[in-house]
This record gives sequence, structure tokens and C-alpha cells, in this order.
Amino acid sequence: RPPAEPPRHANALDALREVFGYESFRGEQQAIIEHIIGGGDALVLMPTGGGKSLCYQIPALVRPGAGVVISPLIALMQDQVDALQELGVRAAFLNSSQTPGQAREVERAFVRGELDLLYVAPERLLTPRCLDLLDGGRIALFAIDEAHCVSQWGHDFRPEYQALKLLAERWPGVPRVALTATATDATRTDIVACLSLDAAPQFIASFDRPNIRYRIVEKHEVRRQLLDFIRAEHAGECGIVYALSRSRVEQTAEFLSRSGIAALPYHAGLDARTRAEHQARFLREDGIVMVATIAFGMGVNKPDVRFVAHIDLPKSVEGYYQETGRAGRDGLPADAWLAYGLQDVVQQRRMIDDSEGDALHQRRQMRQLDAMLALCETVTCRRQDLLAYFGQSIEPCGNCDTCLEPPAAWDGTVAVQKLLSAVYRLWRERGQRFGGGHLIDILRGQMTDRVKQHGHDTLSVFGVGENLSADAWRGILRQALALGLLTVDLEGYGTLALTEASRAVLKGERTLMLRPVAAKRPKASRQRTT
Ligand code: ADP
Ligand code: ZN
Repeated sequence: RPPAEPPRHANALDALREVFGYESFRGEQQAIIEHIIGGGDALVLMPTGGGKSLCYQIPALVRPGAGVVISPLIALMQDQVDALQELGVRAAFLNSSQTPGQAREVERAFVRGELDLLYVAPERLLTPRCLDLLDGGRIALFAIDEAHCVSQWGHDFRPEYQALKLLAERWPGVPRVALTATATDATRTDIVACLSLDAAPQFIASFDRPNIRYRIVEKHEVRRQLLDFIRAEHAGECGIVYALSRSRVEQTAEFLSRSGIAALPYHAGLDARTRAEHQARFLREDGIVMVATIAFGMGVNKPDVRFVAHIDLPKSVEGYYQETGRAGRDGLPADAWLAYGLQDVVQQRRMIDDSEGDALHQRRQMRQLDAMLALCETVTCRRQDLLAYFGQSIEPCGNCDTCLEPPAAWDGTVAVQKLLSAVYRLWRERGQRFGGGHLIDILRGQMTDRVKQHGHDTLSVFGVGENLSADAWRGILRQALALGLLTVDLEGYGTLALTEASRAVLKGERTLMLRPVAAKRPKASRQRTT
């Protein structure tokens, strides 16, 4: 073992001021940092932009040896290390982007005690060579960044993270600090178990980001809606647009560019060079709109992102919160805008059904989707709902769409009963299942070819919903699906079936307050006016 070098910074505050040039700590940073300097383990939960990095960087500067940072973000290590070196911190990384010669140089520096921080990807750390290397030098602490990657619950699950169990066994005396912006109970429990943090204090910052205004709109013509939103509220400003698929990303970026907005695509299907170039332009230039899949954003730190828009429904509230958290890190007003519609529900349910993997995994995904849908359909404060999901309670925020323009919730029990009855009658009396479009025709008493062909005008539910427009019925159908009162078939035809939960509604045991739907009372039908 090399002799312990005297620490270059006597205490945390010195390091904060001299190295990073900041005056004071934020939130719980100081408590966390002092706890780790004292040799303690910790779990740190802070929203994106909350200042997690200093929580391990400063202890690594004050404690003897190098802080070993485990991070899944290989693409960002170079930038992180460059930024630290700029501040005079002796930082380096080990990952697959290096030549063997470069790696050997870093290894030698570590063994000689010439590093303050060493960034490693988990798969690299777990190699025998790297484990031996760590045994041969002095480790100030282990920082496990993006620690939610250990959890199967999360959207970023990485199997290599689970092997980090060995840290506690192999180096019981080295402090472990796990950091994440993902804070649900289930994720937290998994992190604690995997990293043996049962006895460690948990530092949980408020997840509220009051400067972000949450808004969820009904999807009609999403590209046009997006363009209107950007033009009206964020012309010339920097933002991120998330879409679910590569092709949606490409098409949307192209559409925005044609409409005069400086948009760039980003997804895993682009070659590494293009991705790096687009990311660099996004960081450097003003007013770039990045249209991306969720492959973009983890670890990207740009303070003046003025909006994050989702044109497809995110798969979970955790993902959504993390993605929207990239807006307004500078504390100035920013928007989180999401367009959501019936097709999103149908498509995502189907994707989960079609996905491989065990039943437990599918159930988890369904539950995550249900929470996301509940957030979309809520008639109360969105932020309250969001924070409740992370176990924190607040008063209505006054800065989300439902606070600013409370939706006129209405008692939709009877309407939903009619919809469910139609599904029930078709199945019981005819042994048939149909998709939403045809059901709505039946409810509205439309004599379409299909209605005639099947004789559906003789069903008792034919025409019982003619008081509502087709658009209104689509809104009701969407909410019934979101509430789990109907399911979409597995075969891919989009036919609808009842669920366990439908029964209570059909029996009149449950009242349903729904979000407003388009034009509740259309103009009177022609027969009545003539
Ligand atoms: P996180 O990793 O939690 O997303 P970062 O560690 O990247 O957040 O910090 C977000 C931003 O806040 C960075 O630009 C960082 O330099 C800045 N920051 C962190 N702590 C402080 C502080 N005590 N004073 C001023 N700025 C800070
Ligand atoms: Zn609110």
C-alpha cells in the first residue's frame, strides 16, 4: 500500500470554495458530505439537478485515497473527467473507449495514489483485473451513481449493477454512497438490499421542482399541437421532445426543422459520431430542440432547458419525472408538456402484452403504466399526484394545468355503464368482441354497414348514447381503459373486453368522476329539429 498522502483539503467547506468555487452547500449536501468523510455509508435521493455529484466528489477530495465512482454513463465519463480536471481535480476513468495503453496509465496513477476520483463502468469494475487493481491501491469511498439501475422495478435496470453486492463483502471498511433521482419505495428497498445499506442513513431531498409547470393535453394531431406549443411559448428556446420510437423521432425532428425550428434527432440507431455531435450542439448552441428517445438525457446537464415535451406516453411515472426534471435546472420557469390519447393506452397495453419476459415483469410494467395513466387522468393537482408517487405530500401547487384551470370533473358513471353494457351485451348475446369505433357507432345509434351486417341495431344498447358526440365517447373510452375498466385483446385486433373492475361499475357500486370530454351535448339530431 502506498503511504497515505496528506489530504489536500482540510475540510468540506474549503473544498467547496477552493475547488468548485461555490459559496455554500445546498440542502443536505453538507450533512451528507460530513457523514461520508466520517466513514459512513449513505443513500442519497435527490431530484435531477439537485447536486448529487458534490456529495461524493468532496469526500473523495478530503479522504485519503481515490473515490471510485461507478456509473453506467460511459459516454459522459470523458466530459465529467474533463470538467473535474479543469478544476484541478485529479480525475480519470476506465472504460471500453480507451486503448490498453491509456488504461494502463490510469491504473498506474491509481496505484501510486495520484488520483482523487476514478470513474468506472460496473461491467469493467467486475473484471478480475479491475478488482485486483483496486486491491492494490487506496480507496476513499465507493459512489454508486444512478443506483436505481440495481432495481428491476426501474426503467434502467442493469444486471451488472446487481453484482455490486460484492463491494460490501470485499471492502467492508470503505464507505459506500448510493445516489439516485428515482425514489419510489420499491426501488429504495432494492438499492438498500443490494448494496447492504440497511444501517445507512437515507438522505431524501424534496423532489418538488416548483418552477416546472406540468401540463398534460389531449392528443389530436400531435405534431401540429407540439409546433403550436413551441411557437407560442418557447420560440427560439432550448428544449427536449421525447418520443417512443426511432421513426417517430426522425419524423418529428424533420417536421420541426421544416417548420423552421432548430431540431435535431437523437436515438440509439444513429451512429455514435452523429449522436455525440448532436449532443454537443445541444449543449453548446442556444435554442436547439432535441427530439429523442429516452436514450438521451441521463447525465446531460444543461441548465437552461426551457421545456420537455412528450409526444408519446412515457412507460412509468419515474421515467416521466426524471425526463421532465431535465427542464429548468437553473430554477427559472420551465414547462413539462405531454400529449396523450386513447391510442397511447391501447398501444402501451399491447406492447406489454407482447413483450417477452415473465409474468411478474409484465405485471410490474402494467402497474407502472396504470400509475402513469392515473396521473394523466387526474382531476386534482398533478404535482400532488406526482410527489405522492414518490411518497411526499404537498398542498395543491398552483402551477400545473389542473390547478390553473381546474377540469370540470363530471359524474361519468352512467356513460361508462352504457359503454360497459355494450361490451357485455355483444359478448353475452352474440359471442362477439369489437373495437372502440364500432362500439361507439352502436352507442350512438349509427346505421353503418357493419351495424346492418351484424344486426346490431336490435341490441338493447343501440342508440342509448346518442346524446354524446363520437369525440366525447372516445374520451370516455380512453378513461375507462386508463381506469382498467376495459382491456384490449391480446391478438392485436384492438377488441375490448370487461375486467374484474368493470363489475362494480355495472352494478352501480362505484361512482366515476371523469375529466371533461369534447362537446357533451352536440346539436340536436336532425329528426328532432324537423
Ligand atoms: P445531479 O447529479 O443531482 O443531477 P449535479 O451534481 O449535476 O446534480 O448538480 C447540478 C448543478 O448544480 C451543477 O451545475 C452543480 O455544479 C450545481 N451545484 C451543486 N451544488 C451546488 C452548490 N452547493 N452551490 C452551487 N451550485 C451547486
Ligand atoms: Zn398543481
